[in-house]
Amino acid sequence: MKTKKPLQKNPHCIHRIGFGNDLHRLAAGRKLVLGGVRIPFEKGPVGHSDGDALSHAICDALLGAAALGDIGRHFPDTSPSWRNASSLAFLRYIRELLQEAGYVIVNLDATIGLERPKLAPYIPKMREKVARALGISVEQISVKAKTGEGQDAVGRGEALRADATALIEKG
Ligand code: MG
Repeated sequence: MKTKKPLQKNPHCIHRIGFGNDLHRLAAGRKLVLGGVRIPFEKGPVGHSDGDALSHAICDALLGAAALGDIGRHFPDTSPSWRNASSLAFLRYIRELLQEAGYVIVNLDATIGLERPKLAPYIPKMREKVARALGISVEQISVKAKTGEGQDAVGRGEALRADATALIEKG
Protein backbone atom coordinates (compact mmCIF):
# COMPACT_ATOMS: atom_id res chain seq x y z
CA MET A 1 0.00 0.00 0.00
CA LYS A 2 1.22 3.45 -0.91
CA THR A 3 1.83 5.74 2.02
CA LYS A 4 0.73 9.33 1.73
CA LYS A 5 3.43 11.94 1.46
CA PRO A 6 3.47 14.16 4.55
CA LEU A 7 2.43 17.77 4.03
CA GLN A 8 5.36 20.10 3.46
CA LYS A 9 5.54 22.47 6.37
CA ASN A 10 7.78 25.39 7.08
CA PRO A 11 10.14 23.93 9.71
CA HIS A 12 10.62 27.39 11.19
CA CYS A 13 6.92 28.01 11.71
CA ILE A 14 6.15 28.32 15.42
CA HIS A 15 2.69 27.50 16.78
CA ARG A 16 1.56 28.59 20.22
CA ILE A 17 -1.70 28.04 22.08
CA GLY A 18 -3.31 30.18 24.76
CA PHE A 19 -6.24 29.96 27.14
CA GLY A 20 -8.36 32.70 28.65
CA ASN A 21 -11.45 32.90 30.80
CA ASP A 22 -13.61 35.54 32.38
CA LEU A 23 -16.46 35.74 34.84
CA HIS A 24 -18.79 38.63 35.55
CA ARG A 25 -21.51 38.99 38.14
CA LEU A 26 -24.91 39.79 36.62
CA ALA A 27 -27.06 42.63 37.91
CA ALA A 28 -30.44 44.05 36.94
CA GLY A 29 -30.49 46.99 34.57
CA ARG A 30 -27.00 46.43 33.09
CA LYS A 31 -26.46 46.09 29.33
CA LEU A 32 -25.64 42.59 28.12
CA VAL A 33 -22.99 42.71 25.39
CA LEU A 34 -21.14 39.62 24.13
CA GLY A 35 -18.65 39.71 21.27
CA GLY A 36 -19.72 43.31 20.71
CA VAL A 37 -23.36 42.28 20.19
CA ARG A 38 -26.06 43.87 22.35
CA ILE A 39 -28.47 41.21 23.62
CA PRO A 40 -31.84 42.29 25.02
CA PHE A 41 -32.16 40.95 28.59
CA GLU A 42 -33.15 42.31 32.01
CA LYS A 43 -29.71 41.66 33.51
CA GLY A 44 -26.14 42.34 32.44
CA PRO A 45 -22.57 42.06 33.72
CA VAL A 46 -21.15 44.34 36.37
CA GLY A 47 -17.74 45.59 35.26
CA HIS A 48 -15.42 48.50 34.69
CA SER A 49 -15.70 48.15 30.91
CA ASP A 50 -18.74 46.81 29.05
CA GLY A 51 -18.25 43.45 30.81
CA ASP A 52 -18.05 41.61 27.49
CA ALA A 53 -16.81 38.31 28.93
CA LEU A 54 -16.47 36.65 25.49
CA SER A 55 -14.17 39.39 24.20
CA HIS A 56 -12.24 39.41 27.49
CA ALA A 57 -11.66 35.64 27.40
CA ILE A 58 -10.49 35.87 23.78
CA CYS A 59 -8.14 38.76 24.71
CA ASP A 60 -6.54 36.66 27.44
CA ALA A 61 -6.28 33.59 25.19
CA LEU A 62 -4.44 35.64 22.54
CA LEU A 63 -2.21 37.41 25.06
CA GLY A 64 -1.49 34.07 26.71
CA ALA A 65 -0.57 32.42 23.41
CA ALA A 66 1.95 35.19 22.72
CA ALA A 67 3.10 35.35 26.39
CA LEU A 68 2.30 39.05 26.37
CA GLY A 69 0.74 39.28 29.80
CA ASP A 70 -2.96 39.54 30.51
CA ILE A 71 -5.92 41.81 30.04
CA GLY A 72 -5.44 43.46 33.45
CA ARG A 73 -1.93 44.55 32.49
CA HIS A 74 -2.92 46.08 29.15
CA PHE A 75 -6.28 47.53 30.17
CA PRO A 76 -6.04 48.32 33.90
CA ASP A 77 -9.36 49.14 35.51
CA THR A 78 -7.68 52.20 37.06
CA SER A 79 -7.08 53.67 33.61
CA PRO A 80 -9.66 56.31 32.63
CA SER A 81 -8.82 55.82 28.93
CA TRP A 82 -10.49 52.39 28.93
CA ARG A 83 -13.46 53.37 31.11
CA ASN A 84 -16.67 52.28 29.37
CA ALA A 85 -14.57 51.18 26.39
CA SER A 86 -16.07 48.70 23.96
CA SER A 87 -14.21 45.44 24.40
CA LEU A 88 -13.90 45.27 20.62
CA ALA A 89 -11.38 48.10 21.11
CA PHE A 90 -9.39 45.72 23.36
CA LEU A 91 -9.39 43.15 20.55
CA ARG A 92 -8.25 45.73 17.99
CA TYR A 93 -5.41 46.73 20.32
CA ILE A 94 -4.32 43.11 20.80
CA ARG A 95 -4.43 42.56 17.04
CA GLU A 96 -1.75 45.29 16.77
CA LEU A 97 0.33 43.78 19.59
CA LEU A 98 0.31 40.40 17.84
CA GLN A 99 1.22 41.98 14.52
CA GLU A 100 4.16 43.81 16.10
CA ALA A 101 5.34 40.52 17.59
CA GLY A 102 5.05 38.82 14.17
CA TYR A 103 2.13 36.51 14.96
CA VAL A 104 -0.97 35.67 12.97
CA ILE A 105 -4.08 34.04 14.41
CA VAL A 106 -4.80 30.49 13.23
CA ASN A 107 -8.11 30.01 15.06
CA LEU A 108 -10.12 30.74 18.19
CA ASP A 109 -12.62 28.59 20.04
CA ALA A 110 -14.83 29.93 22.80
CA THR A 111 -17.68 28.82 25.05
CA ILE A 112 -20.04 31.18 26.86
CA GLY A 113 -21.77 30.01 30.03
CA LEU A 114 -25.07 31.79 30.59
CA GLU A 115 -28.32 30.42 31.98
CA ARG A 116 -30.60 32.83 30.11
CA PRO A 117 -31.31 34.10 27.49
CA LYS A 118 -30.62 31.65 24.65
CA LEU A 119 -27.61 32.92 22.71
CA ALA A 120 -27.84 30.86 19.50
CA PRO A 121 -29.54 33.62 17.46
CA TYR A 122 -26.74 36.08 18.30
CA ILE A 123 -23.72 33.87 17.70
CA PRO A 124 -23.29 34.55 13.93
CA LYS A 125 -23.13 38.31 14.62
CA MET A 126 -20.65 37.78 17.50
CA ARG A 127 -18.34 35.81 15.22
CA GLU A 128 -18.62 38.51 12.57
CA LYS A 129 -17.82 41.36 14.97
CA VAL A 130 -14.90 39.59 16.68
CA ALA A 131 -13.50 38.54 13.28
CA ARG A 132 -13.67 42.11 12.00
CA ALA A 133 -11.98 43.49 15.13
CA LEU A 134 -9.16 40.96 14.82
CA GLY A 135 -8.82 41.17 11.02
CA ILE A 136 -9.50 37.45 10.48
CA SER A 137 -12.30 35.48 8.82
CA VAL A 138 -15.47 34.24 10.52
CA GLU A 139 -14.40 30.64 9.80
CA GLN A 140 -11.42 31.14 12.13
CA ILE A 141 -13.73 31.75 15.10
CA SER A 142 -15.97 29.30 16.87
CA VAL A 143 -18.39 30.50 19.56
CA LYS A 144 -20.50 28.04 21.54
CA ALA A 145 -22.95 28.55 24.37
CA LYS A 146 -24.19 26.43 27.23
CA THR A 147 -26.17 26.80 30.41
CA GLY A 148 -25.03 25.89 33.92
CA GLU A 149 -27.75 23.25 34.38
CA GLY A 150 -29.07 25.14 37.39
CA GLN A 151 -25.74 24.65 39.21
CA ASP A 152 -23.05 27.13 40.32
CA ALA A 153 -23.26 30.90 39.86
CA VAL A 154 -23.91 30.58 36.10
CA GLY A 155 -26.66 28.03 36.65
CA ARG A 156 -28.35 30.22 39.26
CA GLY A 157 -28.35 33.11 36.78
CA GLU A 158 -26.00 35.16 38.96
CA ALA A 159 -22.99 35.17 36.66
CA LEU A 160 -21.78 35.04 33.09
CA ARG A 161 -18.69 33.08 32.15
CA ALA A 162 -16.60 32.70 29.01
CA ASP A 163 -13.67 30.44 28.15
CA ALA A 164 -11.53 30.70 25.05
CA THR A 165 -8.55 29.03 23.43
CA ALA A 166 -6.41 30.55 20.70
CA LEU A 167 -3.82 29.17 18.31
CA ILE A 168 -1.34 31.62 16.80
CA GLU A 169 1.64 31.14 14.50
CA LYS A 170 4.79 32.90 13.47
CA GLY A 171 7.10 32.23 10.56
MG1 MG B 1 -14.10 40.78 32.09
